[in-house]
Amino acid sequence: MPRIVQKFGGTSVGDVDRIRKVAERIKKTRDEGNEVVVVVSARSGVTNELLARAKQLNPDPARREMDMLLAVGEQETIALTAMALHAMEVPAVSRTGAQAGILTDSAHTTARIIRINTANIEEPLQENHVVIVAGFQGVDDLGQITTLGRGGSDLSAIALTYVLKADLCQIFTDVDGVYSADPRIVPNARKIPVISYDEMLELASMGSKVMQSRSVEFAKKFGVVFEVRSSFNQNPGTIVKEEASSMEDVVVRGVALDKNQTKVTISGIPDQPGTAAGVFQALAEAGVVVDMIVQNVGRQGKANLTFTVTRDDAERARKTIETLIADEEEGSVTVEGDVAKLSVVGVGMRTHSGVASTLFKALAEESVNIQLISTSEIKISVVIEESRSDEALRKVHGAFGLEQEALPKPQIGNSPIA
Ligand code: ADP
Ligand code: ASP
Ligand code: MG
Repeated sequence: MPRIVQKFGGTSVGDVDRIRKVAERIKKTRDEGNEVVVVVSARSGVTNELLARAKQLNPDPARREMDMLLAVGEQETIALTAMALHAMEVPAVSRTGAQAGILTDSAHTTARIIRINTANIEEPLQENHVVIVAGFQGVDDLGQITTLGRGGSDLSAIALTYVLKADLCQIFTDVDGVYSADPRIVPNARKIPVISYDEMLELASMGSKVMQSRSVEFAKKFGVVFEVRSSFNQNPGTIVKEEASSMEDVVVRGVALDKNQTKVTISGIPDQPGTAAGVFQALAEAGVVVDMIVQNVGRQGKANLTFTVTRDDAERARKTIETLIADEEEGSVTVEGDVAKLSVVGVGMRTHSGVASTLFKALAEESVNIQLISTSEIKISVVIEESRSDEALRKVHGAFGLEQEALPKPQIGNSPIA
């Protein structure tokens, strides 16, 4: 019997009516002769609400307690989905991450999956049940609840597809596929029918939250092909799979925007060997993840060092640097939170030139200043001011000919976006 893993995101299980619709879709898949394993997220907004409540009580909550709290959201939806299926006379059983055998390391709030003991899923499947697994959560070897990072239900679904040797993995969300840009910002973005793991990974890590980047990394490593599609309609979605040679014909597959960025500049630090090593060692020890780095040409023995971090890490970065350069002679630090990172992505960049010049020209035409630049084989990213970043994204998207006005407007939820 074919085996299918279906993952439903937060909006798809956002209220009782939507959970019923999800249950109908699961029932249909099962009636068509498939074994079905379902992964659900918390109702949309619930994880954010829980986080906000925690922060009200404690600005720096213990990560173990945070996981204990956040796991609640998914526990609600697995139970409700099972109940909805029971009401349709479909045998179904829910499983928390721990009950589903999802074993992780102990890195609370960003845990990695180490192993999945599938017995507790296989058994009910053999008895013809639908198994509904709580996404985003696992358990470490001491029995502590862990979570897999924001958007982590995608990872739960892809990892389960792999270990259960499922024939198909469907990621149901509120948009009917992966688009050439976030359709909420670029309404005439184009749906991408097939995309390579590398392009999806770059888009996801550069801010396209349609897929969690760690889940794409896992899919690439283990060759898990998956489909991203809408839970609100039957439209074909986007297939994410290994690269085919024909994919290089398209130079830019998509553009992404990440507004969760902060720029940190240390001015007037000594221009001598070991300075950068000292700064980045201190940041690493403080657990700050640094993204882009630029150092200008030194003058009179002093230099400026600029780098970006996520907004969550900004305060920690500032404190770390301030401790390091207690003496004014050693420099001063400024932190600017009003920046965004815009990226263009495509495997065709390996074999085509001119991408950087098209990007820079488009930004110049919008009078958007480029503050930092970084490149990889299949991506160019620039840091720009946040207040102009949506317009900049639309402009760049158009400059690469990614928009197609003749196509139907992207669907978000039940209605096309304006
Ligand atoms: P879920 O709750 O189903 O996991 P998410 O909110 O995490 O859904 O992801 C879906 C959202 O991702 C869409 O509503 C869309 O606004 C956003 N998104 C960002 N970039 C893209 C893109 N390139 N293509 C499609 N959606 C995108
Ligand atoms: N509920 C979790 C989050 O909001 C996991 C997920 O939705 O995938 O990040
Ligand atoms: Mg998501």
